[in-house]
Amino acid sequence: MSDTLLTPFSFVQVALPVPMRTLFDYRIPKAIALRHKLLPGMRVKVPFGHSVRLGIIVNLTNTSQWDEQQIKPITSLHDEQAVMAADILALGQWASRYYHHPIGEVLFHALPVLLRKGEKPEYRTESWWVLTEKGQTYDPNIFGRAVRQREFFDAIKEHPYGLNASLIKSLGLNTSNAKALVEKQLIEKVQRRFDQQPELVQEIISKETQLQLNDEQNQALSAITHYLNQFHVALIDGITGSGKTEVYLQLIEKVIRTGKQVLVLVPEIGLTPQTLTRFNKRFNEKVVALHSNMNDRDRLDAWLMAKSGQADIIIGTRSAIFVPYQSLGLIVIDEEHDASYKQQEGFRYHARDLAIIRAKAAQIPVVLGSATPCFETLMNAWQKKYQWLKLRQRAGAAQLPAMIRVDLRNESLFYGFSQTTLQTIQTTLDRQEQVLIFLNRRGYAPTLMCQQCGWIASCEHCDVNLTVHKRANKLHCHHCDKHKALVYTCPECHSDKLTTIGEGTEQIEMQLSQVFTDTPIIRIDRDSTQRKSTLDKMAQQIHQHDRAILIGTQMLAKGHHFPNVTLVVIMNADSGLFSADYRGMEKTAQLIMQVAGRAGRASKKGSVLLQTYHPNNTAIETLCEQNYQAFAAQELRERQRLAWPPFTHQVIIRTESRDEQEAYTLLHQVRQLAEQDGHEEIDLIGPYAAIIVKKAGHHRYVLSLKSSQRATLHQLTETLTHWLETNTHSHKIRFAIDVDPLETY
Ligand code: ADP
Ligand code: ZN
Ligand code: ZN
Repeated sequence: MSDTLLTPFSFVQVALPVPMRTLFDYRIPKAIALRHKLLPGMRVKVPFGHSVRLGIIVNLTNTSQWDEQQIKPITSLHDEQAVMAADILALGQWASRYYHHPIGEVLFHALPVLLRKGEKPEYRTESWWVLTEKGQTYDPNIFGRAVRQREFFDAIKEHPYGLNASLIKSLGLNTSNAKALVEKQLIEKVQRRFDQQPELVQEIISKETQLQLNDEQNQALSAITHYLNQFHVALIDGITGSGKTEVYLQLIEKVIRTGKQVLVLVPEIGLTPQTLTRFNKRFNEKVVALHSNMNDRDRLDAWLMAKSGQADIIIGTRSAIFVPYQSLGLIVIDEEHDASYKQQEGFRYHARDLAIIRAKAAQIPVVLGSATPCFETLMNAWQKKYQWLKLRQRAGAAQLPAMIRVDLRNESLFYGFSQTTLQTIQTTLDRQEQVLIFLNRRGYAPTLMCQQCGWIASCEHCDVNLTVHKRANKLHCHHCDKHKALVYTCPECHSDKLTTIGEGTEQIEMQLSQVFTDTPIIRIDRDSTQRKSTLDKMAQQIHQHDRAILIGTQMLAKGHHFPNVTLVVIMNADSGLFSADYRGMEKTAQLIMQVAGRAGRASKKGSVLLQTYHPNNTAIETLCEQNYQAFAAQELRERQRLAWPPFTHQVIIRTESRDEQEAYTLLHQVRQLAEQDGHEEIDLIGPYAAIIVKKAGHHRYVLSLKSSQRATLHQLTETLTHWLETNTHSHKIRFAIDVDPLETY
C-alpha cells in the first residue's frame, strides 16, 4: 500500500547555521518518507543558496506558509536517529527566543563541533595489540637473540588490556616490533571503542571516605536532600573554605546512588586537575571532564558518554549545559557568580540561567554555590525564590582572614606599595610564611610615554594605550592582541627620554626581587602561564617553599589553594569604585573576596591588606568591617533606588563598524523606532560609545533598554531585532543583542 509512509508528513522545518532568525521549510521526498521515520533532532542535507548544507530538523508539518510548489526537497537524510535530544532541542528553542539569537546558530552551538561538521555520533576506535591464544602460552625464552621482540612481548604480558599507541610510546617501545610478533601469530591487533578503554573500565580502588560534616554543612545537605526529585533551586552561600565542595560531593553521592547522572558546572579557570582528582578520589563512578581546552574528538567522546549514561558525573565549563543525558538528576554550579558562565560574543547566553530552565523542564534540583553570589542570585534568595543556605564558618581549623584598609593618601609609594604594606610583607616572610600580591594588570607597565613631547604608545587599531612587556621586549595591545617591538626613542621627537607610567605584575616582580633578595618570587598571570600545565606546576612549586611571594592577576583568585599564604595584598582596591558600569563595584568586591579567600586556609590565621585612596568609601568600609553580604545588601539598595538590574531587566544592542558614523546612525534609528513604539515603561539610554570605542579597527556603540516589565522589553527587543535583521544589508556593520548583559559598555 502506498499509504504506509514511515514519515506521515510533507514538510520539515530545518534550522541552518546561518544568522537568520527563522527556520527553513523543505519537502520530504516520498522515497525518503517511505523508508525512514524522520524525527526532530535528526540532521538533513538541504539545498541552500548555491550549496548544500547540513541542518537540524526542528518540526515536521503538513502545511507551509510558503508556496508549496516552490519548496525544495531535502537532499538527503543524515541520521537514522536524532542526534539532538528532545530536551536539548526545546532548551535551544527557548534560548533562541529569550536571547533573540538565530535558532540555527543556537542549535548548532549546542552540538559538539564534529557533529556540526556532519560526523557520526560514534565513539572513536583505537588499535590495541593483545596476546593471541598461542601467545598466552608461548615460552618467551624461544625468542633467543630477538631482544626487541621479547621486550615487546613481555610488555604486552604485563598489560592485561594490551597496548595502544600511546602506551607503546610511553614504554619506549616501537610498533615495528609488533609486526614480527603478529607474523608469528603471538599477538593481534584489535579495534576498541573509546568507551571500552581500560582506563575507563578500571575501577578506581582508593575510594576516599566522606568527611564528617559540621552543623552548617549538615543542615545544607539535608535541606537540599529534601527536594531531590523535583525542580528546586538552592543557593549555598558559603565563605571560601566553608566546605561547599564537600556538601556538593555528598549530595552528588546521594543522587548517583539512585542511578542518576550529575552535571557539575565550573568556571573556565576552575577545571584544574585538582578539581578532577578530588572527584575521582571520591567516586568509583565515571567522572568525565568537558571543557574548551579539549580537542573536538575528546569532546565528542565525553558527550557520547553523557548521552549514553556511561558517565555518571560530567564536570564541564559553560557549554556543558547543552550536553544530553540519559537521566540527569542534579545540576551543581560552582562559583555561580563567575563571569565565564556568560558567553560574551555571538550567542550570548548565561549557562546558569539556562541551567535553571533546563532543571525546571527536567524537574530536578539545581545547587548554586559561591562565597560571593551575584546580585541576581542574592535577590532571588532574599525573595525566597531560591532556598538560601548559609555557611559562615570555615571547615576544619581554618579561620577567616582579617580585612585591613591601608590608607594610601599622603604616602610616598614604592612601586605602588605603601610602607605599611612593605613592612607587613617583611614580617610575614620572617615568620616563614607566604605573601600573595594581587594586581589585575599584567605586563611591565600600562603606559609608555615620552617626557619630551608627551607622545604615548597607543594601538593603531584600538583606542587604548599599549602595555609595555619588558621581558618580551614588546609593546602589546591587550584588546586586539597585536604587538610590536618595544621602542627606546620617541617616534615623534626622537628623544630617548621615554618613561613608563604605572605598574603591572612583571614590574612588581622585578622590583620586589630587588628588595626581598632571598625570597622566591613567583608570578602567575597569562604571560607566565602560557601553557595550561604551567599553572599547576607553579602551584606545586609554591607548596614546596616556606617563605615565598606570589604575584598574580585574577588567575590567582580561583581553583588553587595556598595553605601557607597568610598575607594577601590587594594593590588597588579602588578599581571598581569609579567604573562607568553599574556592576563595577560588585565585580571588584567579588574579586577581592575571592583573592582574600586564598589566605590562611590552613590552621594559620591570615590577613588581607587593601590599599586604597578611599578608606572611608562606604562600599570598601562595609566590605572590610562587615562582610560581602552586608556590602551586597547596601549596594542592592542603591541599585533599587536607581532602578538598575536586578530590580529591572536590561537588554543592550551593540553595533560595530569600521565606519564610526554608520555604527552610531544605525543605533540612532533603532532608538527612534523604539520611541515610536511608545512603551513608556521602557527606559532608553544611548546610543553611547563603548568605553573602548575603537577595538581591532571597529567602532562600537551601545543602546540600552531597561524596564521593570520583562514581557514588554522582550516584545520591543523582538521588533527591533527584526528591523535590524531586515535593514542591515551592509556587511560592514554588525549588530548584537545582549539580554541580561554583564558588561554594559
Ligand atoms: P569551599 O568549597 O567552600 O571553598 P571546601 O569544600 O574546599 O570549601 O573545603 C575547604 C577545606 O576544608 C578542604 O580542605 C576540605 O577538605 C575541608 N573540609 C570541608 N569540610 C570539612 C569537614 N566537615 N571537616 C573537616 N574538614 C573539612
Ligand atoms: Zn617625544
Ligand atoms: Zn589593539
